[in-house]
Amino acid sequence: MGIKTVGIYSSADIGLPHTYSMDEMIYLGEGSLQETYLNADLIVHKAFELGVDAIHPGYGFLSENSAFASLVREKNMIFLGPSPKVIDIMGDKKASKETLFAIATPLIPGYFGDKQDSKTLLEEAKKIGFPVLIKATAGGGGKGMRVVESENEFVSSLESAMREAKKSFGIDTVMLEKYILSPRHIEVQVLSDQHGNHRHLFERECSIQRRHQKIVEETPSTALDPELRKKICDTAVAIASHVKYEGAGTVEFILDTSGAFYFLEMNTRLQVEHPITEMLTGVDLVKWQIKIGEGKIISFSQDDLVPRGHAIEVRIYAEDPDNEFLPTNGVIERVGTTHLNGVRLDTGYADGSSVGVEFDPMLAKLIAHSDTRRSAITKLLLALDEITFSGLKTNRDHLKRILNSLKFKEGETYTDFIDKNGDSLGVPEVSNDSFALGIAALQLSGKNLVSETGASHICRDSLVLEESLNMFRNV
Ligand code: ADP
Ligand code: ADP
Ligand code: MG
Repeated sequence: MGIKTVGIYSSADIGLPHTYSMDEMIYLGEGSLQETYLNADLIVHKAFELGVDAIHPGYGFLSENSAFASLVREKNMIFLGPSPKVIDIMGDKKASKETLFAIATPLIPGYFGDKQDSKTLLEEAKKIGFPVLIKATAGGGGKGMRVVESENEFVSSLESAMREAKKSFGIDTVMLEKYILSPRHIEVQVLSDQHGNHRHLFERECSIQRRHQKIVEETPSTALDPELRKKICDTAVAIASHVKYEGAGTVEFILDTSGAFYFLEMNTRLQVEHPITEMLTGVDLVKWQIKIGEGKIISFSQDDLVPRGHAIEVRIYAEDPDNEFLPTNGVIERVGTTHLNGVRLDTGYADGSSVGVEFDPMLAKLIAHSDTRRSAITKLLLALDEITFSGLKTNRDHLKRILNSLKFKEGETYTDFIDKNGDSLGVPEVSNDSFALGIAALQLSGKNLVSETGASHICRDSLVLEESLNMFRNV
């Protein structure tokens, strides 16, 4: 767009790609998170000094912080997001439910009141009926959440949820929800300008999760027919319109096995998984965030938006799926590259980058777009062979096993997918025959990757093997 960019970094991020991809960089020092990336005063002060016009808050840290948005606006800079008032209402899980009650949005049965003593909360939990979910009202990233199966576990789970909420978000207020069994996570991307125009950019299904946090996201969802899609997308637009939303946002829903859906929360920011929507619709969401911030009118109608093909994203994490998904750290030897058409890699790391324990362990997002769901899966599997993040333990093989599993291919994706299919997602036995076949397939497909580890990765993946052999036949 021809806009000069300024970025921020702390001592923990010295040398990472974002520090040399901007026109100018602001160094925030070597302090704690509170003193650096969460230091709203410092960031706004430095930006103001440099004559910055607008601030894009990203999707972590201060991105849903209304005090930060207010500070930015006080200095006459543009905050690329909704107003502080809307962030306060919709960024809070409890306040948003109170607001949406007014327009009869379907809400998950629960307790969203102010009382926080364990006696009241236990009484409310009993009224809702077990299992219940305790949720931090300020929560995000699956933190501050506890599933409680029965009455006698309630108080200890409540205490631990409150402790985690306090530590992660500084606020320990919680609410209770009926815990819906085997649902799907369906969310709708919305885009609203400052002139009252609201559009949806269809749904994303993000049911494949571990610890209530997404790891695979796709669009379209295999669960929606045109009628249900329209209903759920129209509900999201009605919500955006009701709160006079501005900018890009996401309305999250839970879809139960009967086809009923309930409002879960709204994320008043760009989301991690936004690239699949960009690939499906051809709309650049970040560009539109900037245009909307400048006061431009959304130039396309709802009917102009036509979804094309299928897009899937996987989140590559520095973590060990065979050890309860605990974060890992170390030095990335090689990230790898891919030249596959319709594949996008978003990452903040490069060859030789070190990964510490200061931050969320997400390393990258790998996204594939193709005509059909089946070919998007194949393409993503091929890309996962090229993008290695070698040198430290990641969830890459686990992601490949998910994409390769029959249940995933059949679209049987529910939020308990990983718990239920845990056994088949573990490290598989590799027979000598398939190992030999894998090496042969590699050679024949001309990938020149015949290292032992490369070959063993490949032949674990029947789809990749099939693809390699197909390529050979075509030649
Ligand atoms: P989404 O709703 O898109 O799944 P998450 O809630 O998982 O988003 O958070 C998006 C990302 O933002 C996380 O993976 C993490 O990198 C970052 N993030 C969110 N909250 C925090 C936080 N309190 N501290 C550090 N990083 C955070
Ligand atoms: P976060 O802010 O961490 O994203 P959410 O409220 O969006 O929190 O919930 C995250 C995930 O937890 C959902 O995608 C879903 O898998 C699960 N979840 C949340 N609420 C419920 C519920 N009431 N019943 C069943 N699962 C739920
Ligand atoms: Mg959420």
